[in-house]
Amino acid sequence: MKKILLINPWIEDVAAYDFWLKPLGLLYISSILKDAGIETALIDLLDRYDPELEAFMGKEAEDKYYGTGKFYNEAIEKPRCLEHIPRKFKRYGFPEELFRRKLRRYRGVDAVFITSMMTYWHYGVSDTIRVIKEELPDKPVVLGGVYASILPDHAIAFSGADFVAPGTGISPVNSALEFLGIKASLKENFLEELDPDYSHYDKLSYAVLITSTGCPFHCNYCMSWKLWKSFSRRSPKKVAAFIENLYYKRGVKDIVFFDDAILVGSDFKELLKLLEAKELKIRYHLPNGLHARLIDTETAQLMKKVNFKTIKLGYETSNAALQEKTGGKVFDSDLVRAVSFLKSAGFSGNEISAYIIANLPGQSVEDVERAIDKCDELGILPVINEFTPIPGTPQWVELVSKKKLPEDIDPLLLDNSLLPHWWDKGITETSLRLLKEKAWKVRKRIENENCLSRFW
Ligand code: SF4
Repeated sequence: MKKILLINPWIEDVAAYDFWLKPLGLLYISSILKDAGIETALIDLLDRYDPELEAFMGKEAEDKYYGTGKFYNEAIEKPRCLEHIPRKFKRYGFPEELFRRKLRRYRGVDAVFITSMMTYWHYGVSDTIRVIKEELPDKPVVLGGVYASILPDHAIAFSGADFVAPGTGISPVNSALEFLGIKASLKENFLEELDPDYSHYDKLSYAVLITSTGCPFHCNYCMSWKLWKSFSRRSPKKVAAFIENLYYKRGVKDIVFFDDAILVGSDFKELLKLLEAKELKIRYHLPNGLHARLIDTETAQLMKKVNFKTIKLGYETSNAALQEKTGGKVFDSDLVRAVSFLKSAGFSGNEISAYIIANLPGQSVEDVERAIDKCDELGILPVINEFTPIPGTPQWVELVSKKKLPEDIDPLLLDNSLLPHWWDKGITETSLRLLKEKAWKVRKRIENENCLSRFW
């Protein structure tokens, strides 16, 4: 039987935090391969609960907020492009020696598949591949995932992988197996027919899942609609059955949905009704920017009954012209109506937050201030996210054509923590800091008003 080692790579950045980061794509690939008769193993370098990591640290992983927490990290040498930026560059995830020790147990595998997330985390990917190549020099390494799909040429040139498999769904898995000369028949409709494979984790306090892939909206700064050619859903019955399984068989206490468009269609409501009937003692979280326009009274009430604890609404900007220009997915009136439904259903202000993007091209400091004020007025928590230009999006193309960004920029410099250091635009590093302070003060006040302190 063929065996493939799956690896979730290090993050190398100036900052990183475990906001429910699980390599869901890799867990699906594990199920797809097993279903086709190929054995799999997983090294998740970001698994804070790994028993060997806990032994190394001399203590159990500490959670801050429903399973989120700090990664183990070490300062490492900065890439040259960061020399002028006064921030430490760090590697987040397992210590290198622990990673090497684990790799040495897999000398018998046929190949290694490594995934990738943000394009600006590419140094973590190439560093992980460097260590794989040193420990398992004769094993072919295949790279897939988001970075490999958005910047395949960059990945071919810099990652060190033997084969780069861009794309979503089973097509990159098929091309990887073809490269390896492994014949297998893969399930085309993996979303409906397979569960992500959480069997690799010894300890599992929370699980991340999706009920859909893709997004029918076309926001000009987003890649979801370009990566997934169509919007697909899994039947609510299968999602509910999987959650029940995770609860009874793995003792999972928190379920985190990472869909891009979970409210589109009627399936989410149906799922909520099924979960309500199952009466599981689970907390549910929606951290991925919900579509405020699609929340209605019934959805809000069902979410409350089922025990949702984290509801993050995508607000992005208070500037009506920019709301329209970026895709028109939300207007202020949508946010106001959604918050009213959620609060009427019994959610408190500290369970509802709104993402505000700062640094969008064309956005002023006042736009962001107004968005924070709007959250304050509605009694919900404002969360500032710095804009990150994603290569290949319409927004990126516009910035490159207007010479605001060099097309061949090192993707690391697009990291939202670094962009204000060099990008000449309306929102400076100082104004961004002041905006974050303003948002923080509003959050603290709302949290205190709701008599519950929470972590941010
Ligand atoms: S709605 Fe969200 S996921 Fe969909 S295209 Fe817009 S930003 Fe992307």
